[in-house]
Order: sequence, then structure tokens, then C-alpha cells
Amino acid sequence: MSIAAHESAPTTSERVSLADRESVFHSWSAQGSLKPLAIAGGFGSTVWDHDGRHYLDFSSQLVNVNIGHQHPRVVEAIQQQAASLTTIAPSAANDVRARAARAITGLAPEGFDKVFFTNGGADANENAIRMARLYTGRDKVISRYRSYHGNTGAAVAATGDWRRIPNEYSRGHVHVFGPYLYRSEFWAQTSEDECARALHYLERVVQAEGASSVAAILLETVPGTAGILTPPPGYLRGVRQIADRYGIILILDEVMAGFGRTGEWLAFDAHDVCPDLVTFAKGVNSGYVPVGGVIISDEIAHHFDERVFPGGLTYSGHPLAAASIVATIDAMRDEGIVDNARRIGAEVIGPRLQELAVAHDMIGEVRGSGVFWAIELVEDRATRTPVTPAAMGRLKADLLGRDLLAFTADNRIHVVPPCIITDAEARAGLDIIDDALRAFTA
Ligand code: PLP
Repeated sequence: MSIAAHESAPTTSERVSLADRESVFHSWSAQGSLKPLAIAGGFGSTVWDHDGRHYLDFSSQLVNVNIGHQHPRVVEAIQQQAASLTTIAPSAANDVRARAARAITGLAPEGFDKVFFTNGGADANENAIRMARLYTGRDKVISRYRSYHGNTGAAVAATGDWRRIPNEYSRGHVHVFGPYLYRSEFWAQTSEDECARALHYLERVVQAEGASSVAAILLETVPGTAGILTPPPGYLRGVRQIADRYGIILILDEVMAGFGRTGEWLAFDAHDVCPDLVTFAKGVNSGYVPVGGVIISDEIAHHFDERVFPGGLTYSGHPLAAASIVATIDAMRDEGIVDNARRIGAEVIGPRLQELAVAHDMIGEVRGSGVFWAIELVEDRATRTPVTPAAMGRLKADLLGRDLLAFTADNRIHVVPPCIITDAEARAGLDIIDDALRAFTA
């Protein structure tokens, strides 16, 4: 069918998929075999296609729709802002931009009073790395192998997973393994040993690289796409001590873990640690308008009082994004949305996942908090051999057939619904996963 024919025909999911296949080039994919799901609308934790079929969104799309789809207060704030001023240069002072920055710093520890706005999470990390390099006069950045930091020059080079390897053009990046007891790189049997050995190894890498050449340690507070790897108690505090010992900037990437996902406003609130720079995106406004940024400690911000910060973006602090940030944070606070995420993780999702782990031999481990959980699927519990990519593909398709939009990565299902999910919806989604795993092994 030609594009003109698509445009005059009534919209069906099939027509939208066809039009997409003709014109849209998709991320991280070989284009030939793609079959993207057509989504027409959504509300709360549900989305629907053009034929009226509804899906429970257990993915929050790319783990960003923390406040749920089409939250009325956020939609209205964007509409109102659009009616008064849709765009303004970043060099201008703008009321809603300042209010958004204030709303964000209000969630950060004492001593964080400035926000640099970007278009998303990758350029947040890009600019945080630049700030750390300029502040320290050093070059290297240490990050984890099991991590994702975004799809721009330094951010993708800092990434640990496969997406780094074809894109590794940026210099000065060093990677380490972090704590992950279920698949320990350190031969550890206990969380304490895993933590102590990961910290020892990190410090040895700092020394071996030449501590005076290391600008920053960049970590996802809770590595997300890499497997929802909540750090053991004391790990982030230990990293902070190493950073302090060698004059290194600690950047915590809260792009996925922040703004309610773990059941905290910022994931590091649960870890007795204070970074120097915090990067954010996704949940700050649930992606209703693209935005990200860096929350900057006063010390680093003051470094640029008399020196030029050589970085900027046309849409830095875009008014529509800023209005959506203010409305999102206000609504999350007024409606107890972060508390809901914490409670539902502790009372509904966590306990039910533990039951599933007992019922299904193919579950090797479940872990997480809030609305940020991973189910690790294995062929054999003793060897912990991951299930194959083909098996994961079949399982994901089966879950979709059961009207559940799931987020899968490697051999894992990530249970990452919006923070506003109800107990009944969470139970319904977990029952679907239970049924699909039962059918898979039947
Ligand atoms: N950092 C983390 C932890 C992420 O999960 C992501 C995206 O998934 C990014 C950075 C990149 O964000 P964006 O896709 O908005 O550039």
C-alpha cells in the first residue's frame, strides 16, 4: 500500500505498522525483521492499540513512564505552557525553567543548588563527564561493565554492555566489574565478600590507571538494563571513600533508577552516600517531553563562576519540558506516588515474585525494590546457565499474547510497571508471568 493510501484509509494497527515499516528507522535493530507494536493511546498503567486491544504496561515503555500514561495534571501543564510560550533560548531567564530546577534540587541533598538541563539521559552523562574533566583537569572515567549510560560519544563509551563496542570512539574510558553476587566475578559467596572484593578491585584499578589521571567514577546507582543490580550495603559508601582518597568526582546516574522507581525519590537516598554530580532524565517528567540534566554540587557549580562552561544545547531547559517537570514532581508528591512504589514493591511485587521463584525451577533469582525488579531465568539452577535469546523471544511474544507488555533484557524479565500501578494490576501482571512460565515449561 502506498503512503497516500495509508493516509486516506481508516487507522488500524496493521496500517500503522505498515506505515512505520515504510518510513521509520528504529534504534538498536536490524531493520528487516522488525514488527513494532502499534500503540494508539494509554492511561495509567494501560496502553491500547488502534483496534481497541488493551495491554498492561509492565515496561513503563523504556522504564520511564513512572507517573503512568497521560497523567491529567502533567498533560494540562504542557497544554497551558504551550498556550503561553512553547520555546525560548537557553540564554534567557524563564520562570518555569527556574521552577523546574528548584523542584529538582529540592529533592537532592544539601549543597546541590544548580541544574544543567539536557535533552535526555545520554547528554546528561556526556555533560557530567565534561564537568568532571574540567573540574579535575584529569581525563579518565571509570564505569562498570554491566551498565548503560546512553548513546552519545562519551556516554556510550562509558557504557559496559554490547552497545559500547561498535561505538567506542571516545578516549579515556576504563571499565570494572561491580558487585553482582548471583554471577560473582570475585568468587564470593556472601554479599559482604562481594562488596569488599569489588571495592578492593576498584581501588587497585584506580591505582594501576594512575589515580592522578582519573577524573570520575560514573555508576548507575542501581544498574538497570544490566539487571537491576541493587548494590550491597556499604558499596556506594566505599566507592565514595575511594573517590575522596584520590580526588575523583563521583557521578551517580539516576536516569533509570531515579524519581520513584526504586521506591525513593533518588535511588541513592537508600545508600548513605552523597555524589558530586547526579544525572537524571526519564522519570523526572516520565518522558512526556524529552529532557534530562545534571544536578551539580555547589563546589563544582562554583568552579564555573569565573570560568566558561564549554557546553550547551538549543533546547536546554525547554519550557514544555520544564512545565512537565514541575507538574510531575508536584503530582508525585501530592498523590504519594513514590510511597506507592515503595509499598507495592515491599508488599505485593516482592512477595509474589518470591512465590514464583519457589514455583518455577527456571527462575534463578528475583531481586529489586519499588517497581524495579528482575526475574533471572536459567536453564539449570545449579549451573545458573542463562536461558537462550530464542527462548526469551518466545516468552516475550507469549506475554504479549496474554496482553502484558514486558521489558526483557538478556535472560531476564524486568518487572518495571509505572509507580502508580495498583495492587490489583500488579497482581494481574504477575499472574500472567506465572501462567506464561508454566506454559513455557509444560
Ligand atoms: N543512563 C541510564 C541508566 C539509562 O537507563 C539510559 C537509558 O535507558 C540512559 C542513561 C540514556 O538516556 P536517554 O536514552 O534518555 O539518552
